[in-house]
Amino acid sequence: MELGLSPDEIALQARARAFSKDVVRPRAAAIDRDEQYPWDIVQALGQAGFLGMTLPKALGGKDASFLDAVLVIEEMAKSCSVTARIVVETNMGAISTVMAYGSAPQKKLAARLVLEGDKPAICITEPDAGSDALAMTTRAVKRGDKYIVNGKKHWITGAGVSRLHLIFARVFDERGQELGIGGLLAVRDENKGLRVGRREQTMGLRGMPEGELLFEDLEVPAEMAIMPPSGLSRGFADLMNAYNSQRVGAGTVAMGIAAGALDHALEWAKTREQFGRPIGEFQGLQWMLADMQTQLTAARLMLYQAARSRGADGSTFPDPMLAAQAKIFASESAIKIVNDALQFFGARGYSRELPLERMARDVRMFTIGGGTAQVLRTLVAGKMLGWKLPQTRDGYAPKPMRDAAE
Ligand SMILES: Cc1cc2nc3c(=O)[nH]c(=O)nc-3n(C[C@H](O)[C@H](O)[C@H](O)COP(=O)(O)OP(=O)(O)OC[C@H]3O[C@@H](n4cnc5c(N)ncnc54)[C@H](O)[C@@H]3O)c2cc1C
Repeated sequence: MELGLSPDEIALQARARAFSKDVVRPRAAAIDRDEQYPWDIVQALGQAGFLGMTLPKALGGKDASFLDAVLVIEEMAKSCSVTARIVVETNMGAISTVMAYGSAPQKKLAARLVLEGDKPAICITEPDAGSDALAMTTRAVKRGDKYIVNGKKHWITGAGVSRLHLIFARVFDERGQELGIGGLLAVRDENKGLRVGRREQTMGLRGMPEGELLFEDLEVPAEMAIMPPSGLSRGFADLMNAYNSQRVGAGTVAMGIAAGALDHALEWAKTREQFGRPIGEFQGLQWMLADMQTQLTAARLMLYQAARSRGADGSTFPDPMLAAQAKIFASESAIKIVNDALQFFGARGYSRELPLERMARDVRMFTIGGGTAQVLRTLVAGKMLGWKLPQTRDGYAPKPMRDAAE
């Protein structure tokens, strides 16, 4: 089913599908079991041109669209979620922020690292600042031609393997005056003072390290601070806007895992026999298949639409409402689809010898990372109502609530 794709997009999808089946699938179980970042796959992705494909041609990329990236991510996720996340982070994560707001030297540095096989890390979350990211305490203080950064982040994807880090911090000038939240680019092993801490013991996605990062008088040259267009006082809003790209990528990984699980279930429904006939002949399972496919198609269309919204009317990022709705729907439906696909296999589905249990562990993450499903609903509802809702940091009780309270 083509869902409005162009011949070039269909050709790219076919190439990604073949790569996923031939190169990625045979490695997926070992990546999970050994909990090792798959450097061999990174190299193969680079050779196939899937790393940094959305970068401008002038910087060595292919000027590919976000829809192109979505098509590749889905195919990778059918075989291996970790591989799919690498494609996200080298095309739509911190790299999008640098490409949108960075200076020429910042863009050059980021593009070079990504094309060499680096998966940049985005460093926002702190132990006491999760959904309430504005509560972050990491500080960057200007001293001469540098910023000195101190603080601690946790649950950072790629901790210990990423080289480029986009660090969100409260920025202070030389007089100690706070200017707002900004982004600073640091390269592990080049900028002194960036230490990798504890690795999280994750439920799934185990080939991708999640961990703590400690900034201990980390020195960042002043020219590596990213200046968002509305200035530092509104810097956080601009930087988070860039996160819409990552949300479309994360939603696509979830949708791709679900598509892979559904492929397995469909095949099994045709071949596994009980009561003298293929189990796919039982209406109870047929209706499950139909529901799974319906949710998958809806999620896919929402993700395509969100990806296509980038660039429409000259926009740099996907539309925030479309990206949030697509991530909510895709991540929640994917958990259900994978869970139902596992059910098709009976006891076998519960075995570590089949990929279903890995898919069930992997897919669970996507209603949490990159903005939880609850926080994204608040974003959607806030925009619908045109209010800053009370459950946001600078929100207020809207008039109907104030009236009710009086
Ligand atoms: C695998 C993984 C990878 C990650 N990678 C990164 C990364 O690379 N970089 C990074 O910076 N962070 C990363 N994160 C962190 C992620 O962004 C946070 O976990 C997320 O923002 C939620 O923060 P929290 O875990 O502190 O939960 P909390 O904010 O403590 O939330 C706890 C619960 O309360 C709910 N909640 C909180 N506030 C509200 C509200 N106002 N209204 C309704 N419900 C609310 C949440 O939805 C959640 O269910 C990652 C997380 C995971 C699991």
